[in-house]
Order: sequence, then structure tokens, then C-alpha cells
Amino acid sequence: MKINVLAPGVYNKIAAGEVVDRPYSVVKELVENAIDAGATEISVEIEKGGKKRICVTDNGSGIDRDDLALAYSSHATSKLMTADDLFSIHTLGFRGEAIASIAAVSHMEIVSRTASADAYALSCDGGILGVVRPAAGAGGTVVTVEDLFFNVPARLKFLKSDAQEEADIGSVMARFLLSRPEISFTYIADGKKKYRSFGDGLPAALVAVYGADVLANCTQIRAEKHGVRLYGFLGNRNFYKANRTYQSLFVNGRYVVNQTVGAAVTNAYASYLMKRQYPFYVLFLDVPPEIVDVNVHPNKADVRFADNQVIYGCVYSVVSAVLDGNSRALEYLVAPPEETKIPVRVRETAEIHQEIPAKKPAGEGMSYAEAREALAFDLTIPKEQEPRFLEEKPVRMEVRQPVAAPAEDVFAENQRYLKEQAARARQERIDPAALVYKGELFRTYLIYESGDCAYLIDQHAAHERILFDRLKASWETRSVVSQPMLVPFVLSLNGQEFAFLEKNFSVLREIGFEIEEFGDTSVRVSAIPADLMGMDLQAFFGDVLSSMESLRAIRLADILKDKLATAACKAAVKGGEQLTQDEVRALVEQMDGDIGMKCPHGRPAVVRMKKSEIEKLFKRIV
Ligand code: ADP
Ligand code: MG
Repeated sequence: MKINVLAPGVYNKIAAGEVVDRPYSVVKELVENAIDAGATEISVEIEKGGKKRICVTDNGSGIDRDDLALAYSSHATSKLMTADDLFSIHTLGFRGEAIASIAAVSHMEIVSRTASADAYALSCDGGILGVVRPAAGAGGTVVTVEDLFFNVPARLKFLKSDAQEEADIGSVMARFLLSRPEISFTYIADGKKKYRSFGDGLPAALVAVYGADVLANCTQIRAEKHGVRLYGFLGNRNFYKANRTYQSLFVNGRYVVNQTVGAAVTNAYASYLMKRQYPFYVLFLDVPPEIVDVNVHPNKADVRFADNQVIYGCVYSVVSAVLDGNSRALEYLVAPPEETKIPVRVRETAEIHQEIPAKKPAGEGMSYAEAREALAFDLTIPKEQEPRFLEEKPVRMEVRQPVAAPAEDVFAENQRYLKEQAARARQERIDPAALVYKGELFRTYLIYESGDCAYLIDQHAAHERILFDRLKASWETRSVVSQPMLVPFVLSLNGQEFAFLEKNFSVLREIGFEIEEFGDTSVRVSAIPADLMGMDLQAFFGDVLSSMESLRAIRLADILKDKLATAACKAAVKGGEQLTQDEVRALVEQMDGDIGMKCPHGRPAVVRMKKSEIEKLFKRIV
């Protein structure tokens, strides 16, 4: 690999900017260099939030003795030679200024060894270069940065506490583990091992970052649409967080924060989570390079898409299909393998392959069909329909031997997860015939008894969920029942609103509205979805049209789904409304024993109290 000095013209084409301002940005630059050098093992050690010391060791290509000095000079890079190369960037770094900038404000040392030569070292103190000297070292590069900003007191003042700087480095490292699951990372802060991954795939990386439980709370997805690939992990509906820090998005391998994708995911979760509950996700979006504009500024983690609407539509439809558990979800769920050739690897030694029949004896393992039933999603598909997979090959899972920690055995982890899901689904569905009605409380909560459990059902939440599901199901199967109105409803619109609605007449008709042009810019609604009889049309269309303004890029179908949830809420029986015996019976019949039910806003519809819990309240038992 040769290092070239960029012509000033080339350099100026790249957005200028500060490369390093905090210890985490140093870590980011150095690890990116290691990745660009083809390293498969990267270790990062820091002290005092990186202020005292940052050391990045890799087993990559190394730097030639003669290039060591060039690595330190600004605008020197081995990754880009002409301005045209800017449009076909495959490496992470390319402007050749990171090392120069860091070396100017720290004590820096690079020890490096290429495959064909011995190790050499070169240091730089506050921008003053030393001389190349022979050193000892394994193949690859060790870069050490000490006393960052020692000669720039103004910068030093702006650094945060050691703990905060360390936390930010931790986030950067977590993103590396997740986005480069094929690389083994070690991250040590003040002598304590924080992260350790083994380069054996995304599920294992997720466990390394978030702990062993995370897989049990997530669904792995993989989808391909319109040349866009979306894959990764979605937190299940009841696995939410108190803030957004558990949301990671990687576009073409880079960590980014992107509004379009963020909004699509958040809106897909909207009917399952309440305010201030944030979904957990680690998602990868791979798009053709020509439809994405990567901001080349090193510290701005955003991208722009040529067509936000397409991206929004893809992400929203995939995520909501999975969360709602409709039939399309099957295309997106990553299934456990039925029979797979599992490479068994003995760590730190050669890889041996061994045939392991992944299929367990009857009763023990679980087929995908069983697993599918076990998933808490209530997949609404005919049983005989076979799941379709995007990849022909079964998913390969790796089992490592010896198993050092249970958390690392992803295969067993997945099996356990599916079994737990099955158990939970069984627990959460009870035989509706066994429910005995015992009355109601406050005209809102229906009381039922079954076995040694009491159930309180929130009549509003339950009804809302039922309406919502029914609407969606009939919409998706295109079997909507329309109910003509006695007096048609006429909506006067401005030209823009009219054009928007008219363009979407077909979508509205699909979901049960009879709607047509009525004079210049008015529309007439003469029938509505039967389930929404009595809905407030003025409010509904007002809501839809106001969303049109703010979410111009989004397909109407997506907006409508959210609005239907609201309409279902309004049409559902209210708390405080006295139900007749027949109504109560009908409601519970429709719930079909689903006591894990939540309303479309994520509130539980059923609360269960065990007899023993009640006895505890009365101190009959302790
Ligand atoms: P850039 O990454 O933008 O090229 P840097 O200042 O980060 O600029 O690095 C300058 C050059 O030093 C790189 O182009 C690369 O040739 C070399 N280099 C830096 N770090 C490493 C490493 N860990 N392994 C091999 N080469 C490296
Ligand atoms: Mg670099």
C-alpha cells in the first residue's frame, strides 16, 4: 500500500472540519484506520476516559517503514488519489488528516509491522516528529495516543468528566461491534473489560453489547424490497426503553441518525408503545450507493436519500408487518435452522467442520412452524401456507466449543428464546369458555374468574384492540364491509387537499370508504367502514389532511393506518359506559382468551390476579 499526498484541489473538495474534538473521535478514527487496514482483531484500551491514554492495536496490513512519516503528514492517505475517487469510496477514512490532527495535540506513537518486514516505530510529540526506529511488534499496528490536548488548554477545558468521555467511547465501540460483527473487538477501560466480541456474527455481537437477554426480547428480521435491504433486530412490543440510546441504524455500514428511517420505525411501533417508551432496535439498511448521499463530514452521522418516500415506505412496511404479525411478516422473520451444517469452531485454533443434525428428537426441538405459532405475534396466515425465505440457504448458526459462557452460544440461545416464547404464548392465552363473569367495577372493568385466577378486563382497551385488528385484517384481506350512510358527508377542501385525496381515492375505497368527487374541490363520502359506524368524519379527514402537510413523503396507506387506530379508539365502547350482558359476552368472545392483549396505544387490556396474590393482600398467606 502506498501513501499519496492529496493535491490541494482534491482536499478542498472534501468538507473541511475538525476531525477530532473529543477522545471518542480519536477512538473512532483509529479504529476506522484499523478496519481500513483489513484487521480482523482490534483491541482498544483507554485510561481516564481516553484523556490519559488511548491505545488501538490491530492485526491489519501494517504501514511500511518508509510510509510511517507520511502517515503523520496531513492530507496523506493511501485511500484516495483523485477527486473522482470521492464518489466511489469504500474505505472509512479518506481525507488523510486524522493522524496528523491527533498527533498535533498529543503524544502519539505508531508501531507497525507489515507482512514482509520487521516492526518500526515513529513517535510524534505535539506535532514534532521523531525518527523512525526499529521496534518489536507483531504483524499489524499499535497506535498509542497519550495526554490528548495537553498543548491546547482551551480544548482540554471542554472535555467532559472521565466517566462521560468513557461512556461516549463505549457508545462508539458498541457501534463498531454491531456494524462489524465479523471483526473481533476487545474494549478495555481503566483495566476493566467492557466489550468482547469474537467476530462470529450479528446475534453474538448483540449479546456482547447488550447482554445475554437481548435476543430473547428481539426479533431478527431480514427483508429486501426495491433494491433496498433491511435487516437486524427489532425489540419486541413489550421490550422498550426510556430513551433513544438503544436505537442504532447503520446505512451501508455506517452508523447514522436519520429522520426518515427513525420516523418510519417509530411510527410502526406507535400503536404498541406509549409516550416516552422508545423501541429498541439495531437495524441495517443497505441501499444502492447512487440513492444515498453520505455526508462526508467526519462528525456528522447523517445521510440523505434521493427518495425519502421509498425509504420510509420500505422501512415502515417491513417493521409494521413484523410488529403487527400480519402474513407478510413471515417473509421478514429470520427463522431458526431446521437442519444445518454447523461449523464447530475451537476458539483460537483451526476451524473444523462437523455435521450436526440440528433437528432434535420429537418434542425437544421446535420446527419453524411451531416456532411461528409460538411467536407472540399471532400471525394471521393459513397454517398450510409455507413461509417464504429470502435466502435459499438455511441460516447458518455457529456453535463454539468449548462453550466458555452460555451467552456466547447463540444457537442454544435462540432455542431457549423460542421455547420461552412458546411458553409465554401458552400462558397468555386462556380458554375463553372457562371464564366466568362476575360483574363489573366502575362501569369500566369487567371481572372474570377462571381456575385460581381473577381477570379484570378494561372494556375500552379490549374493544379498541379488537376493532383495530378487525379493521386491519379486513383491509389486508380486502374484504372490507362498507356501511352506507343515511346522509352522505360532504367535505369542502382546498385545491391541494383535494388533489391529495383524489389521488388516493383507491386506497380509501379499499379500506371501506365510498368516496367520490363532488363539485369543484369537494368530495362526498356515502359509506364508511362498517366497524367505524358513527365515526367523526370531519375529525378523521381533518387529521388525515393535517398529516398530509407534515408527512408529505409518506404513503396515505401508512397515515391511514395510524388514523384508523385513533378512529377505533373513538368508536370503541368507553370506560364508564354500561354494557348489556350480551355486549359483555360478545366482547369477551371476540377476545378469544387473549389475555396478553394490549390496546393499540400499548396499554394492557387485561390484568390478571392470582388467588394467592389476593390471599396475600388479606394476609391469609405470606
Ligand atoms: P485516512 O484514514 O483518511 O487515510 P489517516 O490520517 O487516518 O488518514 O491515516 C493516514 C494513513 O496512514 C492511511 O491512509 C493509512 O495508509 C495509514 N494508516 C493509518 N492507520 C493505519 C493502520 N492501523 N494500519 C495500516 N495503515 C494505517
Ligand atoms: Mg483514517
